[in-house]
Amino acid sequence: MHPSLHLLVLATCVTLASTTVISDPSSVANATFDYIIVGGGTAGLTIASRLSEDAGVRVLVIEAGPDNRTDPLVTDVTQFTVATGSTLDWAYKTVDGRTISGGKTLGGSSSINGATWMRGMKAQYDAFTLLLDPEDANKGWNWDGLFPYMKKAEDFTPPNATQRAAGADDVAAYHGFGGPVKTGFPLGMFLGPSQPYFVETAQNMTGLKLLPDLNGGDADCISFIPNSLNPHKSDTRSSSASSYLTPVENSRPNWTTLLSHQVSRVFFANSSLPLTATAVEFVPTPANASTIPTSALPTYTAHAAREIILSSGAIRTPALLQLSGIGDASHLSALGITPLVDLPTVGKNFQEQTNSPLGAAGDGFDARGRGPNDVIAFPSVYELFGDMAGAAVENITKGIEGWAESQAHNAANAQALKRIFEVQAGTIINDSSPIVELFYATNAAPGFELAIAMWNLLPFSRGNVSIQSTDPLAPPAIDVGWFSVPFDMRVQVAGARLARNILSSPPTSTLSLGETVPGFATVPANATDAEWATWLLGAFGANSHPLGTAALMSRSLGGVVDASLTVYDTKNLRVVDASVLPIQISAHLSSTVYGVAEKAADIVKAAWAGT
Ligand SMILES: Cc1cc2nc3c(=O)[nH]c(=O)nc-3n(C[C@H](O)[C@H](O)[C@H](O)COP(=O)(O)OP(=O)(O)OC[C@H]3O[C@@H](n4cnc5c(N)ncnc54)[C@H](O)[C@@H]3O)c2cc1C
Repeated sequence: MHPSLHLLVLATCVTLASTTVISDPSSVANATFDYIIVGGGTAGLTIASRLSEDAGVRVLVIEAGPDNRTDPLVTDVTQFTVATGSTLDWAYKTVDGRTISGGKTLGGSSSINGATWMRGMKAQYDAFTLLLDPEDANKGWNWDGLFPYMKKAEDFTPPNATQRAAGADDVAAYHGFGGPVKTGFPLGMFLGPSQPYFVETAQNMTGLKLLPDLNGGDADCISFIPNSLNPHKSDTRSSSASSYLTPVENSRPNWTTLLSHQVSRVFFANSSLPLTATAVEFVPTPANASTIPTSALPTYTAHAAREIILSSGAIRTPALLQLSGIGDASHLSALGITPLVDLPTVGKNFQEQTNSPLGAAGDGFDARGRGPNDVIAFPSVYELFGDMAGAAVENITKGIEGWAESQAHNAANAQALKRIFEVQAGTIINDSSPIVELFYATNAAPGFELAIAMWNLLPFSRGNVSIQSTDPLAPPAIDVGWFSVPFDMRVQVAGARLARNILSSPPTSTLSLGETVPGFATVPANATDAEWATWLLGAFGANSHPLGTAALMSRSLGGVVDASLTVYDTKNLRVVDASVLPIQISAHLSSTVYGVAEKAADIVKAAWAGT
């Protein structure tokens, strides 16, 4: 190639790259796109990438955070707890002062998460359909409908011989090959004794089966679990940004991603139902929100010819709906917002998990690796409670009605919530869905070389997210309702006891100098349930797996979106992120969110095919 031609090609590439991911809003303000996607996170970049495969459509993503794709806080999956609490984290405050993390950077939470790659129980995905109207039963909101999309997102590298010798295994049929998200076991996998010892101890304590691979719809097991990382690239994180955007960044001039701007409102063409969404308003994300009044920021507008898709995550998406006039009419009116759609459950049905780490000091054992961790035990109610499981099941079946009444303010009504609880309980009792996760961590911190992060996976407690002012940058109030259903604490106590027993039993205990958290001085060996609960209440943190705030459910049950993910009483406003998942699943969420977004992309494409 002639040198000047080479330069021209280079210049073209630079121009394309710089026009597709931008921070200057001037080329976007007042422009019209076919699709505007609010939030360049896990789901947002997935759907944007798929929609922009059609060179004939123009796609705009507006992302509140910056581009940190080369920042070690993002690329190094072993550093994820360091990114937590950094400027890359929204660090949402709950009303009781706890913190829920969420990625505030290109790729959203997929850029800062723990990178565990897994799906939940088949029955839990099938339960989504049970919560829809009967006419939507054939829309593929079940395991058979979502599993192919979860696999479509994935490019799995099977474990090598060294990793297999250390316990990793796989079932090829449970994985996707050739998709955007790189998954596999880390080259830095712990090859020392700690992970196999945990498996053996946890099996002895619970009777859980060891599955070679839990990614095929059975998570009621212990298993070595892969990560969303690229073992062919030194274990670098595979986020939605590195997977769905980077590879096509220089070849999709029809896809623009505006960084560091925050959508503040959706505009509609009409006020009669159904509403047609036509535009979004957005403002620069202030470097320090507390010191700059939102009214002092410049305001821009971008127009959508086809659709607006909200992918701002389970906390910001409901807030944005409320700011735009979709929510509980009385709540919106009280704030001075004209209600356009009275959907009282926007922001309700909120479900978040309660994480309690327990740990012990190592005896100096050689971990032979740097992680990330990849062994987890998932006991069901039967394995968690053992001989007492019958009583725990009875607690659920007899408790549901009262719990539905006590949580009704965070649902459509008590009757609807009772139905949702019946479905949730069905997966626990009939399908043995795991109710506790015991995430095993090696060398988490000094004095914490053997640790178990333990959380109640399927809380019955419900919460809500609600805006408190019309200021779009003001954080919404987040009331999680932690442990407001007493059974949730019963599960947490049982999980903590089990975690302690595993850490103090052989062979795991042969690597230990003794428990450091909580420590027997804080929670004695013979502690009562009440003593455990006192410690747990003080020590637990959010698990940062929030969902359910714009649920995919029938409207009568409190749903916010229908089976096409369209917000009720709107024509072209969809929600595609963790907000739509109606109930928790026994899994880390990202693979499921990718699957939902992949499916959503096909739904949107089909809706506009031939137009
Ligand atoms: C600390 C942490 C650890 C986790 N660990 C794991 C794990 O190990 N494995 C796993 O599978 N899952 C894990 N998860 C959960 C999983 O990552 C999330 O459930 C999933 O990524 C959520 O995807 P989402 O698309 O709903 O939201 P996000 O990926 O959070 O995307 C939302 C995006 O919207 C942007 N945004 C918000 N408001 C606006 C606005 N008004 N305008 C413009 N942009 C906006 C945000 O900045 C963000 O980029 C973890 C999550 C966290 C936070």
